[in-house]
Amino acid sequence: MGLELINAIITTMEKLKARAKRLGLELTQGQLEQFDVYYQELVGWNKRTNLTAITDYEEVQIKHFLDSLTVTLAWQKTTANTVIDVGTGAGIPGIPLKIVFPDIKLVLLEATAKKAAFLRHITAKLGLEDVEIVVGRAEVVAHDARYRESFDLVLSRAVAPLPTLVELTLPFCAFGGSFIAQKKGAIAQEVAQAGKAIATLGGSLREVKRIELAEFADERYLVAIDKVSPTPPQYPRRPGMPGKRPLG
Ligand code: SAH
Repeated sequence: MGLELINAIITTMEKLKARAKRLGLELTQGQLEQFDVYYQELVGWNKRTNLTAITDYEEVQIKHFLDSLTVTLAWQKTTANTVIDVGTGAGIPGIPLKIVFPDIKLVLLEATAKKAAFLRHITAKLGLEDVEIVVGRAEVVAHDARYRESFDLVLSRAVAPLPTLVELTLPFCAFGGSFIAQKKGAIAQEVAQAGKAIATLGGSLREVKRIELAEFADERYLVAIDKVSPTPPQYPRRPGMPGKRPLG
């Protein structure tokens, strides 16, 4: 690597550090290096397996890594020990959060075997402990007693519209836990349309929080839903149904 390139990478790593700091997160040198390895492997694997549309170094730092960390704006860290990321793809937002909070127990759920292969590779390469990779559909895995109603925090980004998404995620949420969805664009109508589904699945809308960071020119929101009663056993319905016929 040329000196110029090394300097450019160090500068960009410093930028991620400064940006994370604005979220109240102090990243160590070791964590910044983990983010750098994550980037290199993601882009390398992306040549063979479709993992991300974004490959520019700084764009990945912002749109994948920093965006993942914004979840902390709606998350009381002290209360979340077990976390599941539903439809994690290449590990977003689960892996960036695991890098910053190494003590969480994390499940990465992904339906596509090729993406799961990358997840196994990258979690080993980063030396992340207490990460379980589950290959399967949320509609099926959420009926498995090992995972059903067992997580303090359920996360999901870019998987489905909210009325569908809550059926794929709230069944994983333990009583007293919560689900945080990362959403882009105008969402008032989507949230309103999900009202019936949220109630049916045992949730209660806590807040819709806009992300106010200069890095994001578009509208980004966190939708936080608390689990206030058990999800009836018939949910989620069989694979495909939550998308085809959303509740409500
Ligand atoms: N969360 C990642 C990936 C978004 S793409 C990110 O924000 O970058 C959506 C991912 O969800 C895909 O990888 C897809 O395979 C997975 N997915 C979609 N429906 C699913 C389901 N029902 N169960 C499990 N994974 C699902």
